[in-house]
Amino acid sequence: MKTKKEFGRKKGCQRCGRKRGIVRRYGMHLCRQCFREVAPEIGFKKYS
Ligand SMILES: [Zn+2]
Repeated sequence: MKTKKEFGRKKGCQRCGRKRGIVRRYGMHLCRQCFREVAPEIGFKKYS
């Protein structure tokens, strides 16, 4: 059984579901791509 509401249980990115390059900071689980996209929103200017 698969559902789309398993955020937090799976280790994939919260946004896109990727499991590679996950960044776990500030309580988020995002892949590097998504992290770069949301970084400005959380006050992070650059991540490289
Ligand atoms: Zn992602």
